[in-house]
Amino acid sequence: MQGKIIKGIAGFYYVYGADEMLYECKAKGIFRKDNQKPLVGDNVEITVLDKQEHTGNLIRILPRKNSLIRPAVANVDQAFVIFAMENPKPNFMLLDRFLIMMEQSDVPAVICFNKKDLASEQEVTELYETYKNCGYHVILSSALEKEGLEEIHEILKGKTTVVAGPSGVGKSSLTNLLQGEVQMETGEISKKLKRGRHTTRHSQVIPVGENTFLMDTPGFSSLYLTDMEEQHLKDYFPEFRKYDEECRFQGCRHIHEPGCRVKEALENGKISRIRYEDYLSLYEELKEKRRY
Ligand code: GDP
Ligand code: ZN
Repeated sequence: MQGKIIKGIAGFYYVYGADEMLYECKAKGIFRKDNQKPLVGDNVEITVLDKQEHTGNLIRILPRKNSLIRPAVANVDQAFVIFAMENPKPNFMLLDRFLIMMEQSDVPAVICFNKKDLASEQEVTELYETYKNCGYHVILSSALEKEGLEEIHEILKGKTTVVAGPSGVGKSSLTNLLQGEVQMETGEISKKLKRGRHTTRHSQVIPVGENTFLMDTPGFSSLYLTDMEEQHLKDYFPEFRKYDEECRFQGCRHIHEPGCRVKEALENGKISRIRYEDYLSLYEELKEKRRY
């Protein structure tokens, strides 16, 4: 039977089977041989050992669409990154780090600004425009007033989506609203998963509809950019791209160079100052890191 790994704990993989039941599976040595470790999000083939106890063996990992390193998950179609407009106010640096990581992994990101009910019209417009102009899909929502849910449903449908965002922004409120219809009928194992204290430390997949999965990934607040030299950082700011080629110098870093189109766009208000300043800080951070 085929299924999807929704969680891995202490050598066990929990597989959501095609029959919508949850199976507790072990991976046999075959994976170690290929040096391939099963990941949360992997589509797998299992053999059922005990139908009553819902146990099985993982026998094969189906080809992956992609995989991320941190969090270690596979087959991600998109990222849904949630920030609140107020209480807490958005931490742009954190948002931009996350967007860069997703650009690096080639995972499209959708940004959701929640708690619309707490923000002024001006704040709402500013947030929306800032990230819309970078080319991102931006959704404005209020879990409290059930606003924006349709649009979120539409975005998630048929996809596997990593959900991220700092705590307190309304992630659980939104996911609970989205989960609505689908209640996993999975009995004992599902209780066991819920009881566990490990829930917050490990990534897990939540089925929310047909072929529709959310990935809950902890550890979002400590994001470090890695595997990048500072001169490549600019490639991960989509709004810089259309100016990049027109800068006077090839390989312009858009910092002190004369004839820089990005800086010109910044002065003309075409590029957001918040984003540009985050670019400068992250540039310095990457440069610092290389000294060690
Ligand atoms: P999480 O830590 O990101 O999962 O955030 P929660 O879903 O636990 O929400 C944190 C707090 O914000 C709770 O008290 C929620 O009731 C509240 N909250 C969530 N969404 C909204 C919203 O859209 N508007 C308002 N005013 N409060 C919200
Ligand atoms: Zn430039």
